[in-house]
Amino acid sequence: ISEEEEPDGSARPIQVLVVKDDHTFELDEAALSRILLAEEVQNREVVAISVAGAFRKGKSFLMDFMLRYMYSQASEEWLGEAEEPLTGFSWRGGSERETTGIQIWSEVFLVDKPDGRKVPNDLLSLFGCVPNGTLFSTPCLIPNVYNISQNVQEDDLQHLQLFTEYGRLAMEETFLKPFQSMIFLVRDWSFPYEFGYGQEGGMKFLEKRLKISENQHEELQNVRKHIHSCFTNISCFLMPHPGLKVATNPNFDGRLKEIDREFINNLQVLVPWLLSPRNLDVKEINGSNITCRGLLEYFKAYIKIYQG
Ligand code: GDP
Repeated sequence: ISEEEEPDGSARPIQVLVVKDDHTFELDEAALSRILLAEEVQNREVVAISVAGAFRKGKSFLMDFMLRYMYSQASEEWLGEAEEPLTGFSWRGGSERETTGIQIWSEVFLVDKPDGRKVPNDLLSLFGCVPNGTLFSTPCLIPNVYNISQNVQEDDLQHLQLFTEYGRLAMEETFLKPFQSMIFLVRDWSFPYEFGYGQEGGMKFLEKRLKISENQHEELQNVRKHIHSCFTNISCFLMPHPGLKVATNPNFDGRLKEIDREFINNLQVLVPWLLSPRNLDVKEINGSNITCRGLLEYFKAYIKIYQG
């Protein structure tokens, strides 16, 4: 049995990068190689979905639904049965989930791009935010989805700026291109009467939030300029609260039956949107597309930079 698989052969999340208490990193190169150097994928261009943000804000929960979508091959019934427990990234024992670092799904999916190419996609979960912000700060590791709770606060913007600042440092050393797209995913949005749930409301909300005006403090202006300059494409999605059972019941196992309808309705829009082949950017380095094999090399080089 390979280490990537459960004894029953099913796929699972693999911790490929661990951030230790002293803020040093450890890359599990062997585990990452087994995933990225698999015969069918190693020489194909890669897209990867990564979700970043603080702990316990529903990242794993969302990623499990993304996995369902990928496994169902985008079928109409991808959301699953009302009483089916949710599996994948979440609810895998308390201690492991506290680990800061990067988890990646052990199975790589092949997706069809509209131009006829088949590209591998893997789901990455960037767990936790290191206080000094050094981690995940490279164009390739920068999250495509930034998961935040309730609102977009100045803190969140500053955090994103940190991500990108460090990414720029890495860029200078490796001549990397600016970042691609970024989606702000706001959970537990509670002002739908101001800005409606979903992408349209999200865009209007974000436009307002990222607006630069003369009477803003210089620092606030700079964060905004920086974010605008880093991403070619910024969007936002406002998600409703999933309901009290999801948020507070320790025995909740992810079944749809116990999730608020409004949340499910929006999930049905969000997940296909996030994962539609049209929206998946092929990862780029030095302006050229990167393969799974290249991504592995990139991880290794990146770790070296930060280990000095
Ligand atoms: P992660 O640490 O960010 O991956 O968070 P998890 O996905 O493990 O979720 C942490 C807790 O929040 C779990 O008890 C989930 O049931 C719950 N949860 C999931 N999604 C949401 C959400 O959108 N809002 C709220 N309030 N809780 C959520």
